[in-house]
Amino acid sequence: QRLFEHYIPLPPENAPRGAVGVPRVLNMYENYPLWFTLLTELGFRVELSAPSNKALYGLGLSTIPSQTVCYPAKLAHGHIIDLIQRRVKHIFYPCIPLEIQDFSSQDNHYNCPVVGGYPELLRNNIDVLRASGVQLDCPFLPLDQELLLPRLRELSLFADISETEMRRALRLAFEEQRQFKTDMREAGEAALRLIQDKGLQGVILAGHPYHVDPEVHHGIPDLITATGLAVLTEDSVAHLMPDPGRLRVVDQWTYHARLYRAAAYAAGTEQIALVQLVSFGCGLDAVTADQVEEILAVGDRLYTQIKIDEGANLGAARIRVRSLLATMRERRLRMGGARPALPGLTPSADAAVPPSGAPRPDSTEPGAPGLDTAPHPEVRAALGAPEDVFKGTPSFTEAMRATHTILIPQMSPLHFQFLPPLLTACGYKAELLPTVSRAAVELGLRHVNNDVCYPAITVIGQLLHAVQSGRYDPNRIALIISQTGGGCRATNYIGFLRKALADCGLTQIPILSFNMAGLDHNPGFKVNWSLMRRAIMLCFYGDVIMRLLYRVRPYEMEPGSALRLAGEWAERAKLSVAEGSLSSCYRNIRRMIRDFDALPLRDIPRKPRVGLVGEILLKFHPDANNAAVEVIEAEGGEAVMPDLLDFFLYGFYDDVFRYRNLGGKRRQAVISNLVLHFVLALRLPLRDMLRRSKRFEPPLSFRKLRGQVNGIISLGHQTGEGWLLTAEMMELLNSGVPNILCMQPFGCLPNHITGKGVLKELKRRYPDANIAAVDYDPGASEVNQINRIKLMMAVAKQTHAERGAAGADIRTASRSA
Ligand code: SF4
Repeated sequence: QRLFEHYIPLPPENAPRGAVGVPRVLNMYENYPLWFTLLTELGFRVELSAPSNKALYGLGLSTIPSQTVCYPAKLAHGHIIDLIQRRVKHIFYPCIPLEIQDFSSQDNHYNCPVVGGYPELLRNNIDVLRASGVQLDCPFLPLDQELLLPRLRELSLFADISETEMRRALRLAFEEQRQFKTDMREAGEAALRLIQDKGLQGVILAGHPYHVDPEVHHGIPDLITATGLAVLTEDSVAHLMPDPGRLRVVDQWTYHARLYRAAAYAAGTEQIALVQLVSFGCGLDAVTADQVEEILAVGDRLYTQIKIDEGANLGAARIRVRSLLATMRERRLRMGGARPALPGLTPSADAAVPPSGAPRPDSTEPGAPGLDTAPHPEVRAALGAPEDVFKGTPSFTEAMRATHTILIPQMSPLHFQFLPPLLTACGYKAELLPTVSRAAVELGLRHVNNDVCYPAITVIGQLLHAVQSGRYDPNRIALIISQTGGGCRATNYIGFLRKALADCGLTQIPILSFNMAGLDHNPGFKVNWSLMRRAIMLCFYGDVIMRLLYRVRPYEMEPGSALRLAGEWAERAKLSVAEGSLSSCYRNIRRMIRDFDALPLRDIPRKPRVGLVGEILLKFHPDANNAAVEVIEAEGGEAVMPDLLDFFLYGFYDDVFRYRNLGGKRRQAVISNLVLHFVLALRLPLRDMLRRSKRFEPPLSFRKLRGQVNGIISLGHQTGEGWLLTAEMMELLNSGVPNILCMQPFGCLPNHITGKGVLKELKRRYPDANIAAVDYDPGASEVNQINRIKLMMAVAKQTHAERGAAGADIRTASRSA
């Protein structure tokens, strides 16, 4: 009620700028007070979509491109159609990748990739928007009063509004947002006082903001209150525990930052329990659930999770609530008649939320409540030492360089074969793990939350399998794992690995994080120029070998000759990477291209070309994608794989975009921009060599690559493969590769949007596109995946044959047109 019904829209006659539709979904459950106030102060009538229900869900059902996305996101489709039916001309639903930071102790303040980017998916998939001429404004915006001003004025909706008017509206909007949070916190404290003064017990029903939607929570709060327990939300109490102690995971999402703090509060209090509401398909809660359980365990509290989706069968929820009730009763008996004071509260029974018309404190003053809080030492003391929460592993020290072997999980055999010589040359002992066996995946499944994505299970399973193989002394090995540093859960693979090692009693093994975001510092591992230079060479060699091999292998005169040639050059390249000389790298690549240009090929028509894109590990790792390249070649196709280097360039460019558009750090943007242009300059000679070759094509320039997504998705999609995934599909389609295999882990959050979420728009623009999106997870049948690829190949071959008959034949000897 405080969130939506509290705000009364202007009547049409008092709204000189007309009506603007706002959907009652996802990030609006967090920021509606801000957007409502802004639009209303500017003279718009806010038309809010109807409350969610099954009929509204049904309205948008046929426009949902990914059935594995969570229910709160699926509901958003119906809300947009509801607004169209209300005949609004404009819908305002911005993409908000970074939320307002609630606590200074958070590591970051991302939104989930779905919350942050779903509006663009809606625009790309709801055809009736185009047909009805309704404009859905969904720019990527920063939640910063100063930065918002110029960004909003870029939109046609606000184009004729003066700066003064906009400034005033923005000031009031941010004040209202702060007031909303203050009111929530005061309501939480009032409820806690009631619990304390009346000797009651309560449950923090913790979830994400949209879990208060009755269509999403299916009446679970009522189920709990019917048992005599009070119900609170996590955002109304989290401020009482602003610092939850050292966490195993990276505390990087704002909604979940509140969850950890609310859990810490429950762990330190007798009368309060916590129940976590989790939506099916929510990848982030695979990360948060284990951490919440660990926080509660410090206070010897039981962890209860209720999973919800579109089905309203509350049988499982009832069972969980019943066992929770039994635990609470036991605790009440233990407490006797005692009414211990709840930490963080002043004992005043009649304190209540001020009525909405009451005078408010000036929340723009520094330190005003609403965005951060003063620490509550008594709450901290009630929970215990901050380190108690952390199930960790030691850092990799300088001395370990001499004593420890670093085990590297496999990701891309063609590229990672250069990692051991690279690390050895930089003064480390390193070993690359060869393949991922079924046993390794099983081990991953046993020790990693099963709701996490397939790549995490593969990588962690492989490392655990090696550690437990008996081949290594656990006191003399370290494990290396990459951390993306963005809003995807891949940043938290390291947290999963820490937990897995702790579960196996191997907490002495240090974990090295390989990242460019300054996360998880290890004093013994330095990313210096020597390492960077060799890493660039690794990408150059791996990308070029991959490009040459995949281009000629389907046509080789002598079976196995292309792979043999690639192997010979890989051995020379390893020596070159160890040497670390860029000029030797260029020299080798020139000769390598010459040799592949001269490799005898059969003079047959060019085969249908199939691009492989998707999540980075699935794309490059044959064990993870069930040898997709081999399947394509066996089916009579030619595989085309975009470069690995582009993924790193994409990462550097993200810092630049973030600084220009979302309030990122200037220093980081300047450094990343310099590195980006430096690497691009180093790649120029390679592009030139490929361009001059007989058979091969150079990669597209990075500027053109990112320019291609214009009008489809924003460069603000920075989680996972983000906009790069769409850009790679566009690159393939624009270069005569109409067949694409888009590989994603089951339930991959970013790829819901920039993978499956753009397919409809791509097919609209390229009617001949033959794109198959294939999901991979440990339970999915390999036969199903291969059958999907074979089906795609059947269409590819048929179309190719028709084109060939029409004279569009391309010979193998030279480059395609
Ligand atoms: S995936 Fe999880 S965090 Fe993201 S919108 Fe869905 S429920 Fe929320």
